[in-house]
Order: sequence, then structure tokens, then C-alpha cells
Amino acid sequence: MIVNGMTDHRSPQKPRIGSAEPAVPGRGAEALEVRRFWEGLGLPGLIDVHTHFMPERVLRKVWAYFDALGPLTGGVEWPITYRAEERERADLLRDFGVRAFTAMLYPHKPGMARWLNDWAVGFAGRTPGCLHTATLFPEPGVETYVREAVDAGARVFKAHVQVGAYDPADELLDAAWGLLAEAAVPVVVHCGSGPAPGRHTGPGPIGRVLARHPGLRLIVAHLGMPEYEDFLGLAERYPQVRLDTTMAFTDFSEDLMPFPRGALPRLAALGDRVLLGSDFPNIPYPYVHQLHALERLGLGEEWLRAVCHDNAAKLFALP
Ligand SMILES: [Zn+2]
Repeated sequence: MIVNGMTDHRSPQKPRIGSAEPAVPGRGAEALEVRRFWEGLGLPGLIDVHTHFMPERVLRKVWAYFDALGPLTGGVEWPITYRAEERERADLLRDFGVRAFTAMLYPHKPGMARWLNDWAVGFAGRTPGCLHTATLFPEPGVETYVREAVDAGARVFKAHVQVGAYDPADELLDAAWGLLAEAAVPVVVHCGSGPAPGRHTGPGPIGRVLARHPGLRLIVAHLGMPEYEDFLGLAERYPQVRLDTTMAFTDFSEDLMPFPRGALPRLAALGDRVLLGSDFPNIPYPYVHQLHALERLGLGEEWLRAVCHDNAAKLFALP
């Protein structure tokens, strides 16, 4: 499949192989495997639009939630593979050759988003490769802090409809969506009903946001699982809607929420709007498995190059 505007990276110039010691002892072999994947495609590295970095005490709570099999995990055992200090986690992504990544963070209640956004400014500042990330919640003042974040250089937003348990079409958010559409800042939204449904998950509520703001650069997290086909439909309808691959096609997700094989041609056709996402570090398998899960779809190297690097490079105007 040919992807319009795609850069051809198969030039003789080989990317630099990291010479530093692996950040986490024993992880070197995996870093080599990850690098073999993107080098084999002739890419300069990976861009991962869905990685989680958040204030330490919030992340510890998230991990405790997964450990306790909280209801939003769907009651499925979910061992966190990369439970390490923040610095080690960021170093590991660099060992993998992830050139750019996000700091997906999200509030579960009012009064928290601004604090998270303040933290995210510092994190992006001290972490090479991080795309400055911000978040939002339906609450008074949201438009103000979203504007402040955009003015401060936020490159991407995260909204979590399931954990936040809010209606994304809530009128309190309307001006903020409008502002983000106008500023052409992408928003990664967890709006699918996986691994467990929320009151406002599914294609309906976010579809109402798109009806009002058709230019919003929405990135549907997890390919919208398990409502894959509904969200493919939204992407087909709205040219600025994209999908991230986070956890999709892995053995873990295929067991619980298999992607309908019959929809693969639609996924192939949207090859210029599918973006690599992983959910690192909160994944119950090694990072490289996400990459192999994409490879085994059999959609070809052009598709993989676009998804694992080029589409995001274009979206975020990365060299
Ligand atoms: Zn996530």
C-alpha cells in the first residue's frame, strides 16, 4: 500500500546505534530486538504517541489499581512489565530508539488537571524526546488552563473518558475542544469501551464532539477497542480523526477483544492515520510484542513505516 506524502527512509545512511549501557539491567536484549524491528524497516526510530508518564504518586496509584484488578481493568490480571523509576523508564524508551513519545496523564476528578499540566511542563523540559502533553476535565476554568497549556507549547492532549467518567460532549468542554481544533493540537482520547465500558464510552458521545468540531485532531486510543469498526467509521468520516494502536493486536487484547479480521482492509486503507501507541510502561508484556503484533497483521512494510514513525512525524512536524 502506498501512503501519500510518506518519507522514504531507506537511504544508505544508517541510524546510530546507542552505545550507552542499557538503562535497566537485563533489558539490553529487548532493546536490541526493538531496534532490529525499526532498523529492518529502514526507519530512523519509532514515535510512540501513547506512553504514560505522570507524577510519581499518581503513577503508583495507577499501578496499585492494576495490581488490585480494579473494575476498569475488566478484572483481568495485569502485571506491569516496566515498573521502574521515571528516569529509567525514559532511558529505556531511548534505548529502544523511540525518538518521540508522550506523557499521557489524566485526571479522574475535578481540580486536578491544572496540577497535572504544571507537572507535565517540567517533565517535558527535563526529558529529551517527550512531546509536551496536557490534559483536561469538564470543569469551570477548563478553557483557561487549556489555553495556557497550548500557549506554553503543549503538543498533544490526553482525555480519558472511561477513567474520568465524563461525557466528552459536556458543554463545559465545548470551548476547549474548539480551541484545540483551532490550534490543530492533537488529542488522544480513550473513548472506547475496553477493557471495561464507562458511562460515556463508545462512539456515540465522542461522535457528538466531532459533529460540533469536525476539524478536531482526535486520536482514538486503543483503536477504539472493542468498538473497532465504529471508530474506523469515525475515522473514515472525519479526515482529522486518527487511531492509535495501543495494545491492539497483542495476544493479551486479542484474547479479550479480538479485532475483526474482516475489517483489516479498512485499517489498511487508513494507513496514513494509524499511529503507534503502546501504553508503556503499564503493559502486561514486553514492548517489542506490540511491534510484532503489528507486523504479523501482514499489511506490509509501507504500512508499518507509516504507522510506527512517519504518520506521527508528519502530525507533530518532527524532522
Ligand atoms: Zn493508556
